[in-house]
Order: sequence, then C-alpha cells, then structure tokens
Amino acid sequence: MKKQKENEMREAPYELILEGLASQHPDAKPELDFTSPYELLIATILSAQCTDKQVNKVTPALFAAYPAPCDMAKAEPEEIEPYIRSCGFYHNKAKNIVSACRDIAERFGGEVPDNREGLESLAGVGRKTANVVLSNAFGVPAIAVDTHVFRVSNRLGLASAKTVEETERQLMRNIPEDKWSIAHHWLIFHGRRVCSAQRPKCAECMVRELCREYSNRKDKEDK
Ligand code: SF4
Repeated sequence: MKKQKENEMREAPYELILEGLASQHPDAKPELDFTSPYELLIATILSAQCTDKQVNKVTPALFAAYPAPCDMAKAEPEEIEPYIRSCGFYHNKAKNIVSACRDIAERFGGEVPDNREGLESLAGVGRKTANVVLSNAFGVPAIAVDTHVFRVSNRLGLASAKTVEETERQLMRNIPEDKWSIAHHWLIFHGRRVCSAQRPKCAECMVRELCREYSNRKDKEDK
C-alpha cells in the first residue's frame, strides 16, 4: 500500500500543482524594482543575502548617480559603497558591480549581454543571477533556483534533488518551457508567503493535497 502511494506521488500531477500555485499567487512577479537590464543586473547582484525590499530602498539613489553601465564603469568601488552599505557584503558587491560594468563597457559596447555566456562572464554573476536577468529583462525562458525555489519545489515533488543544479534541470524537465519564468515567481511567492522553511502554513496551502511533503507527514501521523 505504501509502495503504491509512493508511486502515485512520484507521478505528481505537475500541471495541477502549477495551476494551484497560479491560483494562490495571481500577483506573482519580480519584486526587485528595475527599468532596464542594467538596473535588474545590479539589483540582482545586490539581492544576494539581502531582501528585495532593502535593495529597492537603495537602488533609486544608486541609479540616479550612475544611470548606465558606462557611468558605473568610471566609478571606484569605494564611491558606490555608501549607496549600498545597508545591503550587506557591500565591499565585495561594490567591487563586483564596478568590475561587471567595466566589462560591459569594454567588451559589450555598454549594453548588458542578452545571453548566458556573456552574463556569466561578468564579475559577481553566476547561473542564478544570469537566469533572473535572462527571464525578467530579456524574456528568455529560465528558472532561477534560489533558496525558496529549491525548498518548495523539492517539498512539493516538482523536483527530487539534493543540489540547486539538479533541481533546475528537473524543473526544466517537469515544467513546460513557456511557464519556466512565471513558475519561478510562483515558487518564490509560495516560499515567502506560505511554505516557509521553519513553519510551512500547510493549512493555508492550496496545493497541499498534491504535496509530497504534506503526504509524507500525514502518513507518519497516521502510523
Ligand atoms: S503543503 Fe505544506 S509543505 Fe507542502 S507546499 Fe504547501 S505549505 Fe509547503
């Protein structure tokens, strides 16, 4: 009986899970404020180990002082540190931001590259940041796996992976490509609002009947 249950859960109705997440979070969207690929790139670099809300507080003044990559490229990291101090790790972030903008100015004609290879060649830009910029600034389907996406997708059974890389691969396999970008936002919203790390609010969760973690917990309680 237990085996049968496991098999049923393994064949998770991904479409239904996605529909449920869409119903619960119809307002899902990027929470970083930006008006251009440049602004999104810088905001995403700043958001490491920092809340989007805090990043949104500092970026208006930063972008007013340095409106384009070529402006930022001329700055010294110490000059931008005062703008971003409250985002944490400001020393490293300032160095990466200036270095990335110098690369953009010198190697990409002052425009943020619209492809993964170019983005990942910039200082401070890993796969996750590249995915965020590709999907939200350039409309390229991508799934950025952050801590929320990793936790929620593995709890739900949309993925069964131990690493971020494998989770991304499985999500790309299990979710239709035209939903990759919005699914990323659904999973983040769900992680922030409902399926928190320590105290998931399963009673409020619209996909609990489809959730592998919830099913496993119920099985344990029933024993
Ligand atoms: S049922 Fe609970 S564990 Fe599963 S996704 Fe919902 S909140 Fe998270």
